[in-house]
Amino acid sequence: MRKNDTRSPFSNLIGKDPYSLFKGVKTPSFIIDEAQLIYDGKILKKVQEDTGCSILLAQKAFSNYDLYPLLENFVAGTEASGLYEARLGKEEMPNKEVHVFCGAYREEEFEEILTYADHFVFNSVNQFKKYAKRAKEAGKSVGLRVNPECSTQVGHDIYNPCAPGSRLGVTVKAFEEGMGIEELKLLDGIHFHTLCQQNSDDLAKTLKAVEAKFGKYMHNLKWVNFGGGHHITRDDYDIALLEECIKHVQSTYGVHVYLEPGEAIVLNAGYLVTKVLDTFDNGDTHIAILDTSAACHMPDVVEMPYLPPLYQSDLEGYGYKIRLGSQTCLSGDVIGDYNFEGPLKEGDMLIFGDMALYTTCKTNTFNGMPLPDILLLHEDGSIETLASFGYEDFKHRLGKAE
Ligand SMILES: *Cc1c(COP(=O)(O)O)cnc(C)c1O
Repeated sequence: MRKNDTRSPFSNLIGKDPYSLFKGVKTPSFIIDEAQLIYDGKILKKVQEDTGCSILLAQKAFSNYDLYPLLENFVAGTEASGLYEARLGKEEMPNKEVHVFCGAYREEEFEEILTYADHFVFNSVNQFKKYAKRAKEAGKSVGLRVNPECSTQVGHDIYNPCAPGSRLGVTVKAFEEGMGIEELKLLDGIHFHTLCQQNSDDLAKTLKAVEAKFGKYMHNLKWVNFGGGHHITRDDYDIALLEECIKHVQSTYGVHVYLEPGEAIVLNAGYLVTKVLDTFDNGDTHIAILDTSAACHMPDVVEMPYLPPLYQSDLEGYGYKIRLGSQTCLSGDVIGDYNFEGPLKEGDMLIFGDMALYTTCKTNTFNGMPLPDILLLHEDGSIETLASFGYEDFKHRLGKAE
């Protein structure tokens, strides 16, 4: 998935014997790593101090709000994909900005969202015409998501908003056909979100396309939002180039720059602890069935797809390959093939890394799989339970509550 990541997702567990640290933990559980949140947060804080830009937490990647009081030391606010996330951001990080981008707003929700969000980003000229004036009259800032039509990722069209026929963002053609003088007068900012786990060279490329297409309108704006997908807290991320891009846009156009990463804010800041339920061989393949599921607990493993890091696997000299799969009926519910020193056995604990992002907020109970509890590993090594789940959580979504 990601190249050249030299800081291990398990760096904070070195010297701590995680198998004993997590010994009493019910499996499966997500464990959020407070020390890593602070590590990531300091990097993001420094970018804001160096440049004067604002970084927002994209809540769709991480919305464990018990950590918002910690995160608000490092971010300027939250970014939401719609009503519920906007409300969560307002409730749980009340002193910070709330920004919202939504593919389309609903009439019956709009008045309520107005009470939560400060910035509204619209996905079409139509939606802008329908809602921008109302938002402005309520004292809000309004923007349009643009599509710079500049793909910097190949082979991942599910995560590429610049793919042909994309529904996300207004192309320059639609912008110029649709935005009249009145609309342009209302417009406070533009927003683009085209990156996914990318470095700042791809941002620089994208910015060139944004400027070529929309630069002449940018002088009249108050802000430009660079979206998410900036892998800022990764070891090989070129922060100097990011800061150059931010300063360039701020000084050329006199605008404030926002970034709204999700992943980068919680990169490597969580684990998924699971146990082996069974092991067997099918032909030449060694198999272990775990009490977690890729499809239910780490859906990006199937969707993206990627191989999540696993503590103490694939080390040098480890040649015993085992396929790690789930209890569910889905043939493809396999986390991946990993190399171990030797066979696993029932009851063995496995610890997956980088499990804070797109996990706790993306789980489901397909096959009646239990939801993992959500725990917090404090800096001092103590472990606190933030949320725990049971049968009721599975049942109540499916029918009449008793
Ligand atoms: C997904 C998304 C983000 C966050 O993306 P990451 O890849 O997690 O950094 C930010 N803004 C918008 C509009 C998004 O759709």
